[in-house]
Amino acid sequence: MPHIATEMKKRSLILVTVDCLRADHVGFLGYPRPVTPNLDALAANSIVFSNAIVAGAPTYFSFPAILASRYPLALGRDVLGIAPNEPTLASALHEAGYATAAFLAGNPYLGRRFGYDQGFDSFQDFLTGGTLGEPASSDLAPQSGLSKLNRLIEAGSRRNPLSANAYDELYFWYCQWMSARQDIPMDKLRRYPAANVIVDQAQSWLSGLGDQPFFLWLHLMDPHHPYYPPAEALAALGLPRITARRARFLNSFWNRGDIGPQRLQRHRKEILSLYDAGVYWVDKQISRLVEALQPLQRWDETVLAVTADHGEAFLEHGDRYHSPTSLPEYLIRVPLLLRAPELSGRRLLEEPFSLIHLAPTLLEAVGVAAPDSFQGRSSWAQISAGTLPGGPVITECVDGCCNPIRPEDRLRPRLMAMREREFKLVINFREGRDYLYDLKNDPAETSPLPPGDHMRERGRLFQAARMHLQRTSDKHKTDLRLRALLRDLQQSGKMTAATQASRSVDEGRRASVRLM
Ligand SMILES: [Zn+2]
Repeated sequence: MPHIATEMKKRSLILVTVDCLRADHVGFLGYPRPVTPNLDALAANSIVFSNAIVAGAPTYFSFPAILASRYPLALGRDVLGIAPNEPTLASALHEAGYATAAFLAGNPYLGRRFGYDQGFDSFQDFLTGGTLGEPASSDLAPQSGLSKLNRLIEAGSRRNPLSANAYDELYFWYCQWMSARQDIPMDKLRRYPAANVIVDQAQSWLSGLGDQPFFLWLHLMDPHHPYYPPAEALAALGLPRITARRARFLNSFWNRGDIGPQRLQRHRKEILSLYDAGVYWVDKQISRLVEALQPLQRWDETVLAVTADHGEAFLEHGDRYHSPTSLPEYLIRVPLLLRAPELSGRRLLEEPFSLIHLAPTLLEAVGVAAPDSFQGRSSWAQISAGTLPGGPVITECVDGCCNPIRPEDRLRPRLMAMREREFKLVINFREGRDYLYDLKNDPAETSPLPPGDHMRERGRLFQAARMHLQRTSDKHKTDLRLRALLRDLQQSGKMTAATQASRSVDEGRRASVRLM
């Protein structure tokens, strides 16, 4: 009898990453405000991770693990992004015959410049050269002659702290008064495309696909500051009183650098409402995407993963946004939901799961082999059976590196967290100190355990840190590192093509001592 090769139909994959989405702000992980009704419904037949932990934070330290299953500092702390030709989730699927597309809502650290387009047939990052964050006060500053006068007054006020404070206060309210005179709608205030724009693009790409298996990556920025959710999302959450004008005031207030957490607390609740409305909008648009797959008959063969690159701070320890100056739970613990067509019922996995394992796990879920360079391992077989191994997971970043474009920012000391279900050790190399937290009894990490306490746990987590440092400074990565450095040198545009290669080799040699 002749052998008839029957190839199993390949499954498609959608990865949705949501910038700044905290694990404790989604309904399927217990948030009481109804911000994620659609994801909650999906979670009823999915694998849900209550302790998914990013491998680095923020964006630029998180994504190398999500896309390339590689720890962010494994190529040296001066390398940013994905190295040229570094294997990724996208490149593995592309080589396996998948149509691949990425639609990213304009995060400057996820652009072509940092290699994130590799492996995608279609890559749209919506970058218009803008920066993240709140407009500087100067956007609202007095004009022309008044501006000169203002500078003189400011210089005078800086001579003593009391008059400096008074100046800051007056200046803030002056800017508010100026901005209140302009009526700018929420959609104009937003710094990046809202999730509906990204989903529209994805839908139109999907509709032209035919029946080829596909990989689609969406990065949504709605919960990222400045917080300007669509008015429809605010209305749906019963918050119609937060108008565009009010949101503009709240964002300016929240961004003040001249006042402390105590005064910022005054508007924390409203800021959280704006953030939650962003999450609501993301949820609604993911549901639109799922609905679009149904008539195309693709939903029944699609694996969907929804997660985040890091969380967000709302004054828990006095801080805002997501600077890597510490690695608290609200920054490193993110939602993770995995939906596969054959799953029924909700499976809740409570052991820590590192996003370093996400890419190989997703590849196994669709039946494609993971590249050898991946540092994570697939957990698909285990998680489909409802279990996870319990070992510590590791998050690393460069302490206080808020502007990774500046090389000197990236060369600061390392910050690491080793996270088990109950204990978490944070090592701050700059301070030369470590902090052990008992997450079971102190989930908000209000006070580290006294030094000398819990030596067994401390020893175990230190050992995990040591092994991690040894493993991730693996010499096999040197080639990727040199390629990434060469790209950075080329992009710096300061050298002629003839000098680039020799400089990069020198740079590489010198830099290999900085791998730790
Ligand atoms: Zn981010």
